[in-house]
Amino acid sequence: MTRPTNEPRPTLQARTRLVQAGRNPSEQFGFVNTPIYRGSTVLYDTVARLESRDSPYTYGTKGTPTIRALETAWTELAGAAGTVLTPSGLAAVSVALLAVLGSGDHLLVTDSAYLPTRTLCDTVLKRFGVTTTYYDPRIGAGIAALIGDRTRAVLVEAPGSQTFEVQDVPTIADAAHERGLCVLMDNTWATPLFFPPHERGVDIAIEAGTKYLAGHSDLLLGLTSANAQFWPRLRETFDAMAICAGPEDVFLALRGLRTLDLRLREAERQGLAVATWLAGRPEVETVLHPALPTHPDHAIWSRDFLGSSGLFSVILKPAPRAAVAAMLDGLQLFGMGYSWGGFESLVVPFDPTAYRTATRWSSVGPALRFQIGFEDVGDLQADLDAGFGRLNAGR
Ligand SMILES: *Cc1c(COP(=O)(O)O)cnc(C)c1O
Repeated sequence: MTRPTNEPRPTLQARTRLVQAGRNPSEQFGFVNTPIYRGSTVLYDTVARLESRDSPYTYGTKGTPTIRALETAWTELAGAAGTVLTPSGLAAVSVALLAVLGSGDHLLVTDSAYLPTRTLCDTVLKRFGVTTTYYDPRIGAGIAALIGDRTRAVLVEAPGSQTFEVQDVPTIADAAHERGLCVLMDNTWATPLFFPPHERGVDIAIEAGTKYLAGHSDLLLGLTSANAQFWPRLRETFDAMAICAGPEDVFLALRGLRTLDLRLREAERQGLAVATWLAGRPEVETVLHPALPTHPDHAIWSRDFLGSSGLFSVILKPAPRAAVAAMLDGLQLFGMGYSWGGFESLVVPFDPTAYRTATRWSSVGPALRFQIGFEDVGDLQADLDAGFGRLNAGR
């Protein structure tokens, strides 16, 4: 009988790895799941063992069997050399950037980046002497023109937060590598299941585990994986700062890992069903979903991605603020709130013109971001249909 083991097995398909990776029942009396280890102190039998520094576990901040289980599984899934776990997705972004940047360095960040990533660059990193230039997410090979003597890294995010531009990651990575830069990617939307980051030229990949890995809107977690070149720097930076994840969150994320493939594929199916329906509504100007053939970056998405998840945006035809508020306030099944990747449907209004600096957002109508959960699609459509009724009444 083959048994789960912590050893990577490269011949297995991703679905099988999700079931097998990062657990070793023979080390835990046959119980299927790695239990929650809580702990700071790790005891050593002898002075010799303490001084040898070769114990698998040395102190709580450096890892426990629970943490190691998810690190190992994610490393295998992402095709990385190693992974560190942080208490939030944003902490994963910060540990990644701090691993590659130093005072005087220049950083290139896509104009479509997750807004708190911008805030990190514009405040803390700026204070430590790092300058950031934001670039057009659709820049492609043109990124080369922005690389200067002090440029150290380029951050991509595909599709873009809220606005869903799909970046040409392999082309940007090639141009960046030619000049010796590190390529970082926020890969939260696709996860490694739908976009294998390191295979596509990414050196350091970031995942907000808070989203699809957690899957239930009940925990915060970040995962940062690196290829062989950047792994030692990432691990060193993480150990120096000890921004470590909580044991219970890691345990829940390991549980989420086992069904990630199923949930993501269902999110894709549900998301496409609602997005397609929305695209046919007279109130909708455009649907920003990369898997729809009408999306301007659909060809890049088809080439590089293995699937889409359940998060996308919609630009409505111009409507008064109060009418949009009436539409959203009255929804029965869609919650209004940040984050996504859980089992429940969500919607948030947003305004890209408020924070873009390298590109101009030209759509005039109100923008809504949808996260489609696992409710019945007909029920969701009926809820939105009633919402459109309130929107139209307020026009
Ligand atoms: C949510 C999110 C993050 C941050 O994750 P938190 O756990 O909420 O800090 C980072 N990047 C993207 C793209 C996200 O959507």
